[in-house]
Amino acid sequence: MKKYKVSFDFDGTLELKPIQAYARELMQRDWVEVWVTTTRWGDDEKYKKFYHTTTNVDLTNNDLREVTNELGIPETRIHFTNMENKWPYIKSHGDFVWHIDDCWVENRQILNNCAPTKAISAFGNPNWKAKCERILRNAMKKDIEAELRAKYKGTD
Ligand SMILES: [Mg+2]
Repeated sequence: MKKYKVSFDFDGTLELKPIQAYARELMQRDWVEVWVTTTRWGDDEKYKKFYHTTTNVDLTNNDLREVTNELGIPETRIHFTNMENKWPYIKSHGDFVWHIDDCWVENRQILNNCAPTKAISAFGNPNWKAKCERILRNAMKKDIEAELRAKYKGTD
């Protein structure tokens, strides 16, 4: 069965309880794969290298891991961009149905560069969940229709 991959920003997004509740719903669907894409630093070593410093800032990301562990999102589906823009990762990944983020700059860049992946605003958007669902269902519907068309091609 095809898996439909979706990506959540963490700070200001998956950090919030209502969004966690939705991610929990998605985790129960065997046709959806939940990923996290955050601009945070993944670890102290990358941070120190970038800033040419030896200062240990203690980047444990404990708060993030607490949420992702509770939701059951595996480590391999958590991506730290280490302060880079998200769109190159989203684009290279290729098959996210959508990414949800509270940052309009990231969203704008994803919309401009990462089609067919959609970007959904988690900030000031009371309809974020309906939008996530609609895009996800449409992606699945499109595949089913294409499959049926291929299957019945030439039989009528
Ligand atoms: Mg954010």
